[in-house]
Amino acid sequence: MLKIAYSPIYVYQVPERHRFPMQKYPLIVQQLLQEKTISTDNLFAPNKLSEEEILTTHTEEYWHKLKTQTLPRKEARAIGFEMTPQLVERGRYIAHATYECALYAKQYGISLNVAGGTHHSFADHGEGFCVFNDVCIASNLLLARGEATRILIVDLDVHQGNGNASIMANEPRVFVFSMHGEKNYPFRKQASDLDIDLATDTGDEAYLEQLQQTLPKLIEQHQPDMIFYQSAVDVLATDKLGKLALTKEGCRARDEFVLQQAKMHAIPIAVVMGGGYSESVEDVVEAHCNTFRLAQQMFF
Ligand SMILES: [Zn+2]
Repeated sequence: MLKIAYSPIYVYQVPERHRFPMQKYPLIVQQLLQEKTISTDNLFAPNKLSEEEILTTHTEEYWHKLKTQTLPRKEARAIGFEMTPQLVERGRYIAHATYECALYAKQYGISLNVAGGTHHSFADHGEGFCVFNDVCIASNLLLARGEATRILIVDLDVHQGNGNASIMANEPRVFVFSMHGEKNYPFRKQASDLDIDLATDTGDEAYLEQLQQTLPKLIEQHQPDMIFYQSAVDVLATDKLGKLALTKEGCRARDEFVLQQAKMHAIPIAVVMGGGYSESVEDVVEAHCNTFRLAQQMFF
């Protein structure tokens, strides 16, 4: 059974200028339901992270500032959303969903969260629209509870996962692989276990070749029993922030390759969305939907 985490709380009511990055979430679900790739049985509403779970990854000081809404304006500005209690609540659900997806992936091979991939969140601060680091929290919970022993993060968002790199810098059980645009945010990058910096305007062929040369080797070397895959679609040529030049077909081929590798090696894979900022929201939704379609076709 394909299990997909989604809750209405994913759509945070933000000021007009931020509407775009949020509206894709319900549209992805609507599209998948409408075309019958999924039914409502595939959807599950996640639970909320407890304070204890947050503190596996984030500092007490950062959590306190979020909880009491006392984040200094400068730190709130780095996150990029207006700081409200609802924003914090939303983040708690989304991050817990990523953990639940990992558990479902153990059961069914794959599971997807219709949000998440908040890889710019550090232990002690957030930035780049990221409050909590969902994949790092989920990884820490899995490790602490004996539900995974070796984790591979495959982060193919066009932006480097600086938060992941920083949080997992001293955690040998988690291998962080980030392939991203060299000339893109974050401009001061952290060192992941493996970083591949791509030149501006890298297209399908060069992109896929890099991935095909790299991922099988990483799986071989690290022997993960859980993969987190950040399947962001800000690698598309149409993306306003991306600076790469993938087509929708290239993006689909990328997803197919990653999913195939996980399936072939029987490694559970939990998928999170990450960014996508094309001019037309249809492009974003279509490219994200491809990931869900592939999951359904390849695993069930
Ligand atoms: Zn991104």
